[in-house]
Amino acid sequence: MTARAMSTPLQIHGVCPHDCPDTCGVITEVRDGRAVSFRGDPDHPVTQGWLCAKVRPYLDHVYHPDRLLYPLRRVGPKGGGGRWERIGWPEAVAEIARRWQEIIARYGAEAILPYSYSGTLGLLQMGVSSARLWNRLGASQLQRSICGAAAEYAVETTLGTRWSQPYGDVVHSKLVIIWGHNPVSTAPHFMPLLRQAQHARTTLERDADGTTADSSERSRHEHCLAAARARARRRRSPASRGRGR
Ligand code: SF4
Repeated sequence: MTARAMSTPLQIHGVCPHDCPDTCGVITEVRDGRAVSFRGDPDHPVTQGWLCAKVRPYLDHVYHPDRLLYPLRRVGPKGGGGRWERIGWPEAVAEIARRWQEIIARYGAEAILPYSYSGTLGLLQMGVSSARLWNRLGASQLQRSICGAAAEYAVETTLGTRWSQPYGDVVHSKLVIIWGHNPVSTAPHFMPLLRQAQHARTTLERDADGTTADSSERSRHEHCLAAARARARRRRSPASRGRGR
């Protein structure tokens, strides 16, 4: 292989590892065994060539000089006064095991609560290997969804089921209610479609105020809004707060 051929970048198509509904397509270019560029897949229907601010600098996750590469042990007090010293992997694992054994001997294994959920974990780390360790240990069991369970409860209570249509469907909607959700922050690829729906709706409103008023459409929207407000009032009422699912 010539030197020129060796330096031709290899394009690798992948998927963002975050637990995010956008599920962006990503393209990593690798040259001579090193990733040299990382970007959104322009052909992915949701990603359309751009990634959110969290994931765009992903090459730094791998190559940044300040990246954590070794176990560190705090020396001194917690907070600003503490320092960190590098220790080896065997030492780190032995210390964690010793502390767990002390906790188990004194309080029982359920005094250990594994606190983690999806984030950037794949199925193996999230649902298989860690579960086997915690089950074997007899640790407490976390509701395996630190943040999602609250949202799931809210969606099921409001809509009756956890169901979501494809992002693109929103452009056909005449009424969109964004409730307890900031898509600019948590679903950025939904925003262009939402704006598209918003502009279409603005046109409809203008028509409704002008000569082509569609009163049945408008009253349907008002009915939906009233029903949504009534549901919210019911959930806030003291009687419904005491009820279980
Ligand atoms: S929006 Fe960000 S976190 Fe979500 S899939 Fe795309 S790159 Fe990943």
